[in-house]
Amino acid sequence: MAQARRILLKLSGEALGADASGADSFGYRAETLAGFVGQIREVVELGVQVGIVVGGGNLFRGATGALSGMDRATADSMGMLATVMNALALKDALVRAGVPARVQTAVAITHVGEAFERDTALRHLESGSVVIFGGGTGNPFFTTDTAAALRGAEIGADLLLKATKVDGVYTADPKKDATATRYASLSFDEAIRNNLAVLDTAAFALCREQKLPLVVFDIFKPGALKRVVMGEDEGTRVTP
Ligand code: UDP
Repeated sequence: MAQARRILLKLSGEALGADASGADSFGYRAETLAGFVGQIREVVELGVQVGIVVGGGNLFRGATGALSGMDRATADSMGMLATVMNALALKDALVRAGVPARVQTAVAITHVGEAFERDTALRHLESGSVVIFGGGTGNPFFTTDTAAALRGAEIGADLLLKATKVDGVYTADPKKDATATRYASLSFDEAIRNNLAVLDTAAFALCREQKLPLVVFDIFKPGALKRVVMGEDEGTRVTP
């Protein structure tokens, strides 16, 4: 039986353009989207309610714009719009595969998706729709990791899942250190003590304060999302 009733899945924008080998590209890879949809479907079929926060890194990041001289707040607004495009791409792929899905955005864009409203989001989740939250937190200077922690806390998720290209948190960078080992689990305090960058600081603080457990896992591993939700040894579990 699934160990979680409601989850918040954070998908980076980068992941939408990547493939299993880790190669990134601009925009979307249809086969990557199809793979994510298949994994999301598996957990929806278990009766798990799924909220998703999607990033925008495959299209635009505010920090990159600021590096070339753009005003940071304006660049971040562009980044937030990029996440809305990704939310629409993901919704389209889910709906085409027969998985009911809705988009809610933190930045109101009439006709494109609903504006974020917690009560409505909860109703959609309870009726079995996947709810994709676009537009991050709606504020510049934040990331979609923080948006994921925020929406996760707001919808009362039992678990926050950070989908990455690595299968968890390691004692050192596994690409540079052959002796690096994966943590199966660790506490928020241990993560701080060992200086492990699990989430960005604001997101991490919110999860810790709200006692929202987190799993970092490799979404490119077939069936990984379901195994995490079933409580199996997949990725790294960070617990209060
Ligand atoms: N962003 C923002 N506020 C938020 C979330 C995101 O301004 O609450 C902007 C920011 O410019 C960021 C971009 O949206 O660079 C894309 O989000 P993020 O970098 O988190 O995407 P990911 O790295 O997960 O693809």
